[in-house]
Amino acid sequence: MKNIVVGAGISGAAVARILAEAGEKVEVIEAKDHIAGNCFDYFDENGICVHKYGTHIFHTDNREVWDFLSRFTTWYPYMHKVLGLVEGQLVPIPFNLNSIRKVFPEGMARKLEDKLTERFGFGRKVPILELRQAEDPDLSFLADYIYNHVFLIYTTKQWGMKPEEIDPSVTARVPVYVSRDDRYFQNRWQGIPDNGYTAMIKNMLEHENITVRTGTAWKQVKDEYAKERIFYTGHVDELMDRCFGDLPYRSISFDFRTYDREYFQPAAVVNYPENNDFTRIGEYKYFLGTQSSKTVVSLEYSSAYEYGKNEPYYPIASAANSALHEKYMAAAREAYPNICFLGRLGDYRYYDMDKAVARVFALMRENGILKA
Ligand code: UDP
Repeated sequence: MKNIVVGAGISGAAVARILAEAGEKVEVIEAKDHIAGNCFDYFDENGICVHKYGTHIFHTDNREVWDFLSRFTTWYPYMHKVLGLVEGQLVPIPFNLNSIRKVFPEGMARKLEDKLTERFGFGRKVPILELRQAEDPDLSFLADYIYNHVFLIYTTKQWGMKPEEIDPSVTARVPVYVSRDDRYFQNRWQGIPDNGYTAMIKNMLEHENITVRTGTAWKQVKDEYAKERIFYTGHVDELMDRCFGDLPYRSISFDFRTYDREYFQPAAVVNYPENNDFTRIGEYKYFLGTQSSKTVVSLEYSSAYEYGKNEPYYPIASAANSALHEKYMAAAREAYPNICFLGRLGDYRYYDMDKAVARVFALMRENGILKA
């Protein structure tokens, strides 16, 4: 059997590389005209590395994943910081003790900090939906404030639903942080590939056992490859001609702008949790500390995914959607006896980049390609 990898994103590239190093021949099929999937980036005429599909910040606690990727890139030691415009002030997101200091008068801030620290402990990360259960009137006031000013409108823009209507794991990604650490992530390893994600993924795919065909949709080759061993990272509903209806996703569109000034905003990402129709603005030169008299930003607008019209970005976690995904996978296994699924779209899971790669390692162990 041949190994066919459908999709040349970070999952597809990782699986291809591991197979190739195990001595297997691999063919990677990619519908887009470029590799790297939604991690794709490029250096513009000002030397600024622009992430075409939105800001990507690598962060992990998984040494195996970090060591693996570090074979294909060196890293710029960037630590991500996000600010949110809350009642006209830029405050750290995740909302933390410093954010409390910014938005409340001093005496009140101190009281709220003390209560939070006492109730949850310094260093705890508290999902907003958990904080909303607090019975203490001051904590309940704080929870309502954060819910209304940070989560409600942002989540409605991003998902078309209220925070309590989406899977709790989604808002728990950005918990209230009982800390003065303003970083977005606390993981042990964090950074941005020095030459960009595309270069890192290109290096992963550069192996004598790997061939890559971009601009080739799975549809074009599926009859030829149906019986091969297939590692499918695309959307599973498309694979089965959407026979059970569309699996829902959220999509994003970006309004990219180049400004003739050194910086546009004081952090790489500024969230707009209560204003405007866009969710956030990313400013790309921060990620590699690029010096330029120009700057590139993107305004991010979220919308429902529509087949053939825009790109799927986020699976929408719910029991009904998981059941539909399962149904599609079962049907796909009938049509393609040696298929397995991976990646954010293939697994229909809201993976960060490191989780996508960790999933590849797990799959390779399950398949006996890597030692258990
Ligand atoms: N979120 C929010 N306000 C914010 C930041 C995040 O309501 O200022 C919620 C929102 O529902 C979002 C989720 O938390 O979709 C996860 O945010 P994250 O930054 O992890 O999203 P990603 O970077 O993956 O798009």
